[in-house]
Amino acid sequence: MDIGAMAGAILACDRRALARGITLIESARPDHREQAVELISALRASGRQALRLGLSGTPGVGKSTFIEAFGMNLAETGKKIAVLAVDPSSARSGGSILGDKTRMEQLSRHPNAYIRPSPSQAHMGGVARRTREAVALCEAAGFDLVLIETVGVGQSETMVAEICDVFLLLMAPAGGDELQGVKRGIMEMADMILVNKADGDLLATATRTVADYAGALRLLRKRAQDPEGFPKAMPVSAYSGAGLDKAWDEMTRLATWRKDQGHWARRRSEQAAHWFGEEVRHGLLSVLEREPAKGILARLGAQVAAGEATPEAAARQMMQALGRPA
Ligand code: GDP
Repeated sequence: MDIGAMAGAILACDRRALARGITLIESARPDHREQAVELISALRASGRQALRLGLSGTPGVGKSTFIEAFGMNLAETGKKIAVLAVDPSSARSGGSILGDKTRMEQLSRHPNAYIRPSPSQAHMGGVARRTREAVALCEAAGFDLVLIETVGVGQSETMVAEICDVFLLLMAPAGGDELQGVKRGIMEMADMILVNKADGDLLATATRTVADYAGALRLLRKRAQDPEGFPKAMPVSAYSGAGLDKAWDEMTRLATWRKDQGHWARRRSEQAAHWFGEEVRHGLLSVLEREPAKGILARLGAQVAAGEATPEAAARQMMQALGRPA
């Protein structure tokens, strides 16, 4: 594979090259990994940056419908938008790759949009790396906005929050009891809570839900990287389109403010440092999964289990075997 040519094609926003590039970064083969690292390094020079938008919400809340409507609005105004789904397909109801593709039918056909369904890979470390690298590829291809979609199942939110610039939580209109069920940690990650389905019979409930969330958000400590009024709750309707423009205005207001204040750059460098640490940890773990470390680990583990060595002494021996004094 000619990585230089692939990088050139991605920089020219060649969709097929972008798709091939993402397939390359998803591969676990060591030679592919090497090429993927080379590709990302080659693309880095472009210096292009998109607004990275994280979107989370439980199945059925209307994520696909929202992305379709929101994305179409932006695509129609000339913005280039890439959508990356994070979760393994098994995490979404009936979500095969095909199902993913047809979820945003109009948007997937729009010349300004690119939709990449999630790979059927369950390992969170792998998903995180794949998402981060796919974002980098989309940025290099010149997309203005990269939307990272995740199903609200906990672990993936934290990972997406470590990748994106602005994190959105999509919620359904609900009674007060259900509101209690939102995990505090997830609320704290959200820059904006969008209460979807604010239309028809659900409008009144949605309005009340927005007020409930707004109240809950006010109770959370205000963060230094937030301008006045953030984090905030707003009603939207993916069906009628109501509130979508306003939500976009608020997202860009937040992003611009953070850029002007230096928070954006700081956040990105902190994220880069975080992912460097994760990659190193990931690398060390994979050393333990391969020979000779794997065999030594099994042998020492058996000794500990048999009472022939203490956990401490065995761990020390393991570290020494890896060439590191404990
Ligand atoms: P996802 O699982 O989060 O991707 O949710 P979907 O986009 O598949 O939507 C789940 C259900 O909610 C579907 O039946 C949609 O038609 C419905 N839905 C989505 N957005 C809206 C909306 O703005 N208003 C109403 N009333 N229903 C919606």
